[in-house]
Amino acid sequence: MSRQGFLVVLSGPSSVGKDTLLEAVLGHIPDMVYSVSATTRPPRPGERHGVDYYFLSDEEFRELIRNDGLLEWAEYCDYLYGTPRAFVEEMVAQGKIVISDIDIQGAEQLRRTMPDGVFIFLMPPSLEELRRRIMRRATDSPEAIASRMARAEEEMHSIVNYDYWILNADLAQAVEDLKAIIRAESLRVKRGGYKEVGESL
Ligand code: 5GP
Repeated sequence: MSRQGFLVVLSGPSSVGKDTLLEAVLGHIPDMVYSVSATTRPPRPGERHGVDYYFLSDEEFRELIRNDGLLEWAEYCDYLYGTPRAFVEEMVAQGKIVISDIDIQGAEQLRRTMPDGVFIFLMPPSLEELRRRIMRRATDSPEAIASRMARAEEEMHSIVNYDYWILNADLAQAVEDLKAIIRAESLRVKRGGYKEVGESL
C-alpha cells in the first residue's frame, strides 16, 4: 500500500466519553483499527481481556516497560496504563489508521515519539456535566470519583497542545467531527495516498 498509516490519539479527561465516541466510529471508517491498551486496573463488569484492555498484573506491566514493549505509559489514579508498541507499529506500517484512547500524560509522551500522529482533545460540554458522567460510573469508589474529578479540571488546560478539539455534547455531531478530521488527515499529501491513483494513470 502506498499510503502511510498513522496514529490518531483521542484524549481528554476521564469519563468525557472517549469510549462511546470510539464505539460509534469503529467499523465505519475504512482501514481503522483500535489499539487495545494494557492496564493494571481490575476489569469493570462486562469488560473483556484483549478487547477493552489487556488486564495485567503489576509485575507483567513492569516487564513490558523493561522490554520496551510500550510506546507510552502513565500512572492514572493508582493504576498503570500503556500502549503496546508492536501492534501500533505493525498496523501503521501496513497503512492502517490506528486509533487510541489515552490520558493526557500519555498523549504528551506520544507527541514527542510519534510526531506524525493526529492529536484530538475531546471536550465535555461543561465541568458540571463531566462531574455527572464521572458519578454515573458507579463502579468507582467515592475517593476514585473525587480524584478523577480533580484531575479532569486540571487537564482541561492541556487542550492548547492538541491539533483538533471535538465537543462531546451531541454524539452524532461528535462522530461527524471525528470522521471529518480523519478524512482530511488521510488526504494530506504527505501521507502519500495519491500515489495509488497516480500508479494507474
Ligand atoms: P479507565 O480506567 O476509565 O478505563 O481509563 C482511565 C484513563 O486512562 C482514561 O483517561 C483513558 O483514556 C486512559 N487510558 C486508557 N488507555 C491508556 C493508555 O494506553 N495509555 C494512557 N496513558 N492512558 C490510557
